[in-house]
Amino acid sequence: MAKTFGNFIAGEWAAPATGEYFENRNPARWNDLIGRFPDSDGRDVARAVRSAARAQPGWAATPAPARGDILRRVGDLLTEGKEVIARAMTREMGKVLTETRGDVQEGIDTAYYAASEGRRLFGRTVPSELRDKWAMSFRRPIGVAGLITPFNVPMAIPTWKMFPALVCGNPVILKPAEDTPHTATLLVETLLDAGLPAEVIQLVHGRGEIVGKAIVEHPGIPVISFTGSSDTGALVGATGGRMHKRVSLEMGGKNAQIVMNDADLDLALEGVLWGAFGTTGQRCTATSRLILQRKIHDRFLRMVCDAAERLRLGEGLDTKSDVGPLIHQAAREKIVRYVEAGKKEGASLESGGGIPRGERLSRGWFFRPTVFAGVRPGSRLEQEEIFGPLLSVIRVNDLAEAIRVNNDVRYGLSSSLYTSNLADAFRAMRELDNGITYLNAPTIGAEAHLPFGGVKQTGNGHREGGWPVYDFFSETKVVYVDYSGKLQRAQIDTEES
Ligand code: NAD
Repeated sequence: MAKTFGNFIAGEWAAPATGEYFENRNPARWNDLIGRFPDSDGRDVARAVRSAARAQPGWAATPAPARGDILRRVGDLLTEGKEVIARAMTREMGKVLTETRGDVQEGIDTAYYAASEGRRLFGRTVPSELRDKWAMSFRRPIGVAGLITPFNVPMAIPTWKMFPALVCGNPVILKPAEDTPHTATLLVETLLDAGLPAEVIQLVHGRGEIVGKAIVEHPGIPVISFTGSSDTGALVGATGGRMHKRVSLEMGGKNAQIVMNDADLDLALEGVLWGAFGTTGQRCTATSRLILQRKIHDRFLRMVCDAAERLRLGEGLDTKSDVGPLIHQAAREKIVRYVEAGKKEGASLESGGGIPRGERLSRGWFFRPTVFAGVRPGSRLEQEEIFGPLLSVIRVNDLAEAIRVNNDVRYGLSSSLYTSNLADAFRAMRELDNGITYLNAPTIGAEAHLPFGGVKQTGNGHREGGWPVYDFFSETKVVYVDYSGKLQRAQIDTEES
């Protein structure tokens, strides 16, 4: 019998108000039932908000270095449990074990970074324009933070939000993706084991349009951090705007790797395989487009197709597998539709393009790594986020055209350029319209201590990771102390007057 899991609300594991549960199955082997998870609704969210609000004053009053110390213990526990957690994540989410280990490691890095940030939540002292007057800023917690996360990076993304929110003194309510509730459960257990006061964290499982929406609409949650698709993000942003909430949106991508004639092609090949087919293409930073300069186009396309054919599909727990399954049936059906769309648009299917045959892969959502060439800028294949192992190859004449093609999409998360020309590299750094650009490295590979996010419809101006996220999760308070003993009027009683 598979285990039945609970929400974590008001300091205890609890059944949902609905009494209903949904099944969580291994995407590589459908008969492997991981567990039943709460199909919660707004009543559970309301209870979680009341509990988190009770915890808020105590947590805000806990010194930030002490809050950081708890996160250091979280980092230690994640380190100890890394292998067990990574295996559970692969079983739940499908990506290969090397990648889930990396996902946990990013959580560990984020924990240690957050721990040290507890001693560095700087304010500023600034000279006043008036005599005998002191001016300074410091940070205050905001309140209960609502965190809504996607399935594809099920450990690191919740930690990117949760750890800074906690260090800044905010209790949190996590609503993980329906496809990865077990990883979220393991994370919350780790935080509790590390000594986090129980009501400072709440976990509410369930569907986005029910639980996610209830979080976004709850007036007791003034700050929302969302990662997911741009369409869902638009809904979250609209409600947040209407309700005057602080909202961080990290959304879709349509990332390109550019390879110039003078590039190291072997290096560029390793990069594109990892970027396009790692996580089965289900990364916000996945390489979805490959922009090739004319002279190396045919040769490099052949290299990519030959190597893609050799990638071994299989269960992520099998160390021989390079590429795991897609997350669910709808994700695979979407890729099938894009393959049809690509053919209709006149692109040429060079490799893959279908569901693999054979008994071994017949009970999972596998799809063969797929390469289309002759993809026209402006076509659906070239413009839309596909979120699967499908790479669109586009031929260009020079760097200026490559940059134009890269920039001409509604997203702006990540880009990559392979070249040995220093001047081209610097020009591209400036002109590629993305939040992150990699030089001679693939479109994926963010590090926890640097800001992460994108421009245009990928983001709304905030960043996760690194230092800016601590600004997002705290209010800046400014204090003026006038010890002159008289009324001094700013802008009026100046030295000249
Ligand atoms: P999704 O938008 O379907 O779901 C994301 C989360 O939002 C889930 O927890 C879901 O339950 C919830 N949700 C759904 N409807 C909601 C609603 N109406 N109100 C509130 N919450 C709602 O995305 P997904 O399929 O889980 O993830 C894939 C998407 O996430 C891709 O577009 C990918 O590019 C993006 N992503 C972006 C980043 C980034 O940092 N930019 C990182 C990872 C994934």
